[in-house]
Amino acid sequence: MKRVLVVGGGLAGLSSSVYLSDNGFEVTLLEASPKLGGRTYSMYNDRYEDYYDNGQHILMGCYDYTLDFINKIGGEDKLYSQESLEINFVKRGGDLFHLKARKYFYPLNLLFAVLKFKALRLKDRFKIIDFFLDLMCCLDEDLRDKTVKEWLRCKKQSDDSVKNFWGILVVGALNTTIEKASAEMFAEVLKKIFLQGSEASAIVIPKTGLSQLFSNLACKFIETNHGQIILSEKVLEIEVSDKRITSVSTDKNVYKNFDVTILAVPTFALAKIQLTGTALQFNIPDLKFSPIVNIHLWLSENPFKEKFYGLIGSDIHWLFNHGKHITLMMSAADQIITLESSEIKRHFCSELEKYFSIFHSEMILDFVVIKEKRATFIPDITSNRKRKEKVSSQIENLFFAGDWTDTDLPSTIESAVMSGKLISEQVIHSLK
Ligand SMILES: Cc1cc2nc3c(=O)[nH]c(=O)nc-3n(C[C@H](O)[C@H](O)[C@H](O)COP(=O)(O)OP(=O)(O)OC[C@H]3O[C@@H](n4cnc5c(N)ncnc54)[C@H](O)[C@@H]3O)c2cc1C
Repeated sequence: MKRVLVVGGGLAGLSSSVYLSDNGFEVTLLEASPKLGGRTYSMYNDRYEDYYDNGQHILMGCYDYTLDFINKIGGEDKLYSQESLEINFVKRGGDLFHLKARKYFYPLNLLFAVLKFKALRLKDRFKIIDFFLDLMCCLDEDLRDKTVKEWLRCKKQSDDSVKNFWGILVVGALNTTIEKASAEMFAEVLKKIFLQGSEASAIVIPKTGLSQLFSNLACKFIETNHGQIILSEKVLEIEVSDKRITSVSTDKNVYKNFDVTILAVPTFALAKIQLTGTALQFNIPDLKFSPIVNIHLWLSENPFKEKFYGLIGSDIHWLFNHGKHITLMMSAADQIITLESSEIKRHFCSELEKYFSIFHSEMILDFVVIKEKRATFIPDITSNRKRKEKVSSQIENLFFAGDWTDTDLPSTIESAVMSGKLISEQVIHSLK
């Protein structure tokens, strides 16, 4: 039986471990922290007997690798999936606008959804439709050096639709602003979501905590398939001889005799792992990161009707309704990340009161603020080029996985899971 050492128990590490153990490999997974999941994990509120996540995550119908992974580990019943795209947007003052595509007549259903999206002027809606029609024939080369802002300007999108439509899509999908985001990456995302059938644009939301959906099931799958998961061990050093890894040292143990090692850690963690016995170095892409702030509120009563809302014109981007527990999410949260939790709560609540007259701060029984400083890398115009430069292909039995690898996707669950699956296929091929 071939032996594989996987370093990092985020979704990329879990995905590669699941697919390799499913293919008869003996997998050992090392994770530095005391829990699996990396940037997707849940905690428990004892007082209200409720799981809550480090950050609300949204999946989409076009997340083919993720949905396949969830099916493999047996989590398909833990998802709420829309039949087709439907988002309720709210403006300050409480006016509600539906962006809703019917199930049939794709792609006309999506164009009609935009046409009926009354949060924008009719003229702007036509311009957006024009933009989507052009998307089908737009070339990557034309967008390579453009930001989303420059692209939208070229396509004559009005200031109003940039602020109240495109800005929300960009910050939701790429966790950065239109000024920083790469047009090429945004085009890739739009094509995946809107040009692959009606189901691709449907929103999929976990019904349970992220740990219950991903880590717990993946862990069970790996262990059932004779794999071993070791928590609270941080890899510090990798010994190389003759362009092959001979040992991997953690803060507690030394691991030897593995046919292959997969490093499934983020770029900043990779930079801290020392290579010894060789002059080779990791050539790590220098990516910048963007924060996300979530606040979980437990309420005395639940005044919200919809499963989630997008907030137009606010620095809070989404509200998710889990019953008496709601989650508010701010992407690209640089301006708030350094504030105290109490200040963040005050800001979020006063903003929420301006959007929903049904909500009052007195309803709050408990709250938790979670700041993820390096939630995602910024997909700017240089990031894709940096990701395409191979990290280090010169060590023969070493492979890399992670949302930052060359998947052509932004920093997402789909990119992490896809990288894990693709790398497992490469490993299988390399050991044939
Ligand atoms: C708040 C938030 C909201 C998000 N929202 C969405 C969303 O709505 N939709 C979406 O698709 N994506 C979203 N993302 C992004 C998504 O969570 C990530 O892209 C994905 O989880 C990255 O997985 P990964 O395995 O590549 O990396 P990670 O999850 O970072 O996993 C890497 C693992 O390696 C471990 N590690 C690091 N160094 C070592 C070492 N030396 N030895 C051993 N182990 C080590 C770490 O502890 C970690 O567990 C969000 C992220 C955050 C933080």
